[in-house]
Amino acid sequence: MDLKEIEKKYRITADYHTHTVYSRVGPYFHGKGRIIDNVRAASEKGLSELAITDHGPSDFYGLDPKRIPEMRADIEEAQRAYPDVKIYLGVEADIVDSANGLDVAAGDFKDYDFVNAGYHYVPKCNMMGNFASFHAPISEKAKAKLREDNTKRIVKALTSNNIKILTHPGDKAYINEEEVAAACEKTGTLVEINARHKHPNADDLKIYAAYDVNFVISSDAHKPEHVGRYAESLALAFEAGIGIDRIVNVVERKDG
Ligand SMILES: [Zn+2]
Ligand SMILES: [Zn+2]
Repeated sequence: MDLKEIEKKYRITADYHTHTVYSRVGPYFHGKGRIIDNVRAASEKGLSELAITDHGPSDFYGLDPKRIPEMRADIEEAQRAYPDVKIYLGVEADIVDSANGLDVAAGDFKDYDFVNAGYHYVPKCNMMGNFASFHAPISEKAKAKLREDNTKRIVKALTSNNIKILTHPGDKAYINEEEVAAACEKTGTLVEINARHKHPNADDLKIYAAYDVNFVISSDAHKPEHVGRYAESLALAFEAGIGIDRIVNVVERKDG
């Protein structure tokens, strides 16, 4: 099925992973739109739910937890302007070496409606080792060691916290997909099919599909115009043999 046919037959109902200007470093905005810009885009695309999930605080572009009240106020304002879209404040926490395996401490989960988590190049997570290996050839032995360490980190984060979505598993760092899939199954964590990153790809998704897990498609939009992107991700899911019954935010169009 080509992308046009996919768009005609199916639609996305919710986008639980988008970034805004609250993901920034100094004067540089990693996310380009304001909260209300993402919400407007979601409304225009007919989504009924949208989450604002800026990067965790240890990321170079991470949100500043002190600004959460400001984010909540922006969400309230956007919610009044666009009552058709239910807006959540989440966070894309970083998987790091810490007590609970994340850069959002267990006690800070209450600040968010839910927490997503993913691997990024941040300190306290063998940043240089993973970055160099993922972008340049390395020995199989070194790769196996990284894969083992990264998998342990993800499994620890998943089993120590209530995480809604594991974002782009296998992107930016080598992992053992079987073990990660088993941990998602055990913890009921949604496996993300990400519109912005190369992983998980169709081969990775076939591995996850063999476990009792559900999937979610996320735009991972860093610009409002990307909010609600789903067609390429849905094509990947179909290529991997995953039906929409296992994707929590895709439905068949009634009019299509
Ligand atoms: Zn990410
Ligand atoms: Zn993201």
